[in-house]
Amino acid sequence: MAITAPRGTQDFLPEQTAEWQLLEAKIRQICSLYGFGEIRTPMFESTELFLRGIGETTDVVTKEMYTFEDRGGRSMTLRPENTASVVRAFLEHKLYGDPQVHKFYYMGPMFRHDRPQAGRYRQFTQFGVEEIGSKDPAVDAEIIAMAFQLFRELGLNDLVLHLNSVGCPKCRTVYRQKLLDFFADKRDQLCDDCNERLEKNPLRVLDCKEDGEKMMQMGVPLITDNLCDDCKEHFHKVQ
Ligand SMILES: [Zn+2]
Ligand SMILES: [Zn+2]
Repeated sequence: MAITAPRGTQDFLPEQTAEWQLLEAKIRQICSLYGFGEIRTPMFESTELFLRGIGETTDVVTKEMYTFEDRGGRSMTLRPENTASVVRAFLEHKLYGDPQVHKFYYMGPMFRHDRPQAGRYRQFTQFGVEEIGSKDPAVDAEIIAMAFQLFRELGLNDLVLHLNSVGCPKCRTVYRQKLLDFFADKRDQLCDDCNERLEKNPLRVLDCKEDGEKMMQMGVPLITDNLCDDCKEHFHKVQ
């Protein structure tokens, strides 16, 4: 039998690669305009980094990581996202000693062992930015403005911006309990995944693609109505 590319991966032939290069050039141009520099981290890291960095109960960690043992018996994982690696590099190179804000962007292949479906690949390309070293709401606003400008310059015109806040550990704890109370007598209306999330990390319930609309109809409490004073102030300034 002929050997084909692994399930969930793609070849890009020169014509398609040329389109990727145009997109990448536009991204690099906007990033540099906003003062972001490119960071390149390894394609694989110690598995522990992602267990600690992403949290042990997100779907990415529980179901989708490409984890393998290397020849020295260490557990390694192909990066499923890049934030954990950027923070690792930031700490490893002791950049926190610097008073300035650090602005990174990254672009490259990430790996998730997802159920194959339209538009989802096991090796996919992700672009992202991280701005570390300031709590200023202007930083959030800057990143949102940058994303908006990028989409505009790529020719997307019917754009609508939705703003949300995920709060801080303080208000999330209160909100978490509100969610648990809200779903206490509605658990049979949610899918199995949601019931599992309610046990481990209730906020993840809101990521459910299956039950999302149903939850809005049920009148699920919103985090923006449950922010602490600091987060409310911060979110207001971002807006
Ligand atoms: Zn808060
Ligand atoms: Zn669900």
